[in-house]
Amino acid sequence: MNTLESTQQVNQPSTHSSIESKSSHVIELDGVWKTYRMGDQDVNALAGVDLKIERGSFWAISGSSGSGKSTMLNLLGCLDRPTQGTYSLEGMDIASSSDDQLSDIRLKHIGFVFQNFHLIPQLTVQENIELPLFYQGIEATQASERAVSLANRVGLGDRLKHRPTELSGGQQQRVAIARALSNNPSVLLADEPTGNLDTATGDSIMALLTELHDQGKTIMMVTHEPEIAAFAEYQLTMRDGKIATILETPNRKTGVTPS
Ligand code: ADP
Ligand code: MG
Repeated sequence: MNTLESTQQVNQPSTHSSIESKSSHVIELDGVWKTYRMGDQDVNALAGVDLKIERGSFWAISGSSGSGKSTMLNLLGCLDRPTQGTYSLEGMDIASSSDDQLSDIRLKHIGFVFQNFHLIPQLTVQENIELPLFYQGIEATQASERAVSLANRVGLGDRLKHRPTELSGGQQQRVAIARALSNNPSVLLADEPTGNLDTATGDSIMALLTELHDQGKTIMMVTHEPEIAAFAEYQLTMRDGKIATILETPNRKTGVTPS
């Protein structure tokens, strides 16, 4: 941790001000361990992870089953804290935050996209996108305008009143991405975002993520498909709770949106 960050943390110990968000690293993991107690055995799901994520970068996380990908993503998404080590998101110390502080940080700084979309079936496209805005106390007219603009951004401006069951899988994932963007998150986290989609639809979702990356979004995505990882700038591979390799993608796929 540099001197500037230390000073600011001393000055603002509890408010979690994002004043430090000018740092080029949106995420910094330092000596992170996550240990689960299973009966009388300790399982080290993460075993000493150091990682710095530059603002605006696009990462794919791969690795065999049990290598620690989900644990890593849950940690990055402030759903959990490290057992040991430090995690700094926008300069905020996540490891020592309370549960209430973590949920507040998630609401303001994290966007999640899941393999199964996780939309609320009773709500329309617009209402699904608006939901996180209401939780943040954004006023209705403003939330509505923002939802419409986000729906347009993901190409669903003409589906605002539809419900999830009236949409294709690819369209549902677009809604989920719009919802994840509603709080203008510091980082967009995606867990197998194309896992339930056919190849062409998956590629169009990757084209959308690529576009968001081009617009400056920081994206971290778990995938086990090399063809999907090839859209990211950096490919990180986990093994036994550790980072095995980090490679810059040669001949990165850029994604052309099919019409
Ligand atoms: P991946 O997503 O790469 O398949 P995980 O992060 O889910 O890997 O799991 C890493 C290791 O930690 C595995 O050995 C898994 O069994 C263990 N693990 C994950 N979550 C828990 C938990 N809640 N309780 C106990 N062990 C867990
Ligand atoms: Mg997993």
